[in-house]
Amino acid sequence: MSLVKPFIVVLALLLGACGPAEPLPVTAPPTNTNPPQRAAYYLGNAGVMVVDQQTKLLFDPLFGEGYNTYQLVPKPILTAIIAGTAPYDGIDVVFISHAHGDHFSAKPVLAYLQANPAVKLVAPQQAVDKLLAAGMSAQAIASRVIPINQQTGDAPISVQAGSIQVEAITIPHSGGERFKAVRNTVYRVEMAENLRVLHLGDATIENAPFAGQQAFWDRQNNDLVFTPYWLFKDAARRKNLDAHVRPIRAIGVHVPTALSNLKKRYGTALDDVDLFTRPGEVRDLQAAK
Ligand SMILES: [Zn+2]
Repeated sequence: MSLVKPFIVVLALLLGACGPAEPLPVTAPPTNTNPPQRAAYYLGNAGVMVVDQQTKLLFDPLFGEGYNTYQLVPKPILTAIIAGTAPYDGIDVVFISHAHGDHFSAKPVLAYLQANPAVKLVAPQQAVDKLLAAGMSAQAIASRVIPINQQTGDAPISVQAGSIQVEAITIPHSGGERFKAVRNTVYRVEMAENLRVLHLGDATIENAPFAGQQAFWDRQNNDLVFTPYWLFKDAARRKNLDAHVRPIRAIGVHVPTALSNLKKRYGTALDDVDLFTRPGEVRDLQAAK
C-alpha cells in the first residue's frame, strides 16, 4: 500500500484544523444499539430516513451529484442503505422529490430496488422515465413504482404505497425559468395519526404556488416538514412555512457543505432553526423539541 493516501488524509486533517470552525461531517451510520422508536436520520443533501415503530421511509436517498456544493451521502452510509443493513433495514417506501442529480440518480436507485425487492418507490414521472432509460423493465416498474404525473396547480394526488397513505402535490422548483420544466413533488406521508411527514424537495421561494395549495396544507396537521434551508432566509420566504405550510416541526436540509459561507450570506437567519448538516445525525422525534 502506498504511503501517499495516509499522507493526504493527515494533510487534509491538518488543513481542516486550520479552516473555519465547523464540525467535521459524521460519515458513518449511527450505531446506537437502542435506537429511538420515532426518529429522523440525516443521509446527505436532502436525503433523510424517517422511522416510526416498524415503518421506515427514505426521501431522496440515492444520488450521485453534489455539484461541489452539497453533501453527498458518505460511502459507508450509502453502502449500508443499498445493502439494507441496520439502521437502514426494513424500508417500506422510497420517495423521490425530483429528477435532479443531487436528489436522484437512476443507477443507485435501480441497484437499491434490485437488492431490496420488497421496497416500493414513489417518484415523479420524470424520474421514472430515467429508470426506464437505465434499464428497469416496464414490468418491474408496474409492480414496484408509483409514478406521480402532475403539474403545478393540479389537485393533490392520493396514492397508497403498500399500507402507507401518501398525498402528492407539485410545487415549482426554485430558480424560476431555469428549472421550469422540472416537476418537484411534495409528499405528505401518514406514518401515524400524529406523524404526517412532508418533504418539500427543492421548493421555490415564491409565495403564490404555496398559497395556491392552501387547502392541501390545511387539510391535515403537518407534523414534520423537511424544507430546503432557503425557505428560512427572511420573512418573505418564511411566509411559505409560517403562513402556508405551518409545520409543527421543521428541519432544514440541502445545506451546502460550506456552512461558514452560507452564514456569511444569511447572517443570523439560520441561528434559530433546526438544520441537518452532518450525515449520520439523528433527531429523536419523541424527545422534547
Ligand atoms: Zn433540484
